Amino acid sequence: MEIYQLLPKTNCKKCGKSTCMAFAVALLSWEVAVEDCPPLKDVEFKNNYEKLLEMVAPVEGSTETGLIVHEDKCFGCGNCVVACPVNVANDPHGAGIGRAPTNDKLILRVEDGIVRAFNIQECRRFGENRILCNLCIITCPTEAIEFV
Ligand code: SF4
Ligand code: SF4
Repeated sequence: MEIYQLLPKTNCKKCGKSTCMAFAVALLSWEVAVEDCPPLKDVEFKNNYEKLLEMVAPVEGSTETGLIVHEDKCFGCGNCVVACPVNVANDPHGAGIGRAPTNDKLILRVEDGIVRAFNIQECRRFGENRILCNLCIITCPTEAIEFV
């Protein structure tokens, strides 16, 4: 909704989407870019355009999925490791059930008391067919994982 509020909200379809809300959702999944909305380049939307760029720009430290682990907030509980469906599928008898990893196919694993991301191309948020998986986020008690 925050992104939608900054769009022209005219449903003009010049971006190729049927509504501004559809464009907002596509922006969130990086399917489109802010520049793909032509009316946003009008002077009247200058501030909105710049704010949107800030909101969707990947920040330093993020992976290709936009995943960031805030190390100062992570205390290595491993909730996210067990919640990640890719971890569960790739290591059903190890990290997938809270045990020590049995292979290197995990996305999230705890090392030195902090969760770290590997094999990020396996994340459900990666690539053209990405889906907005958020299981690692919602299971973290300290909001240490963020997607930008
Ligand atoms: S977004 Fe989903 S697939 Fe990606 S690391 Fe988090 S839980 Fe795993
Ligand atoms: S990111 Fe959150 S859920 Fe994952 S290990 Fe750190 S504190 Fe636990």
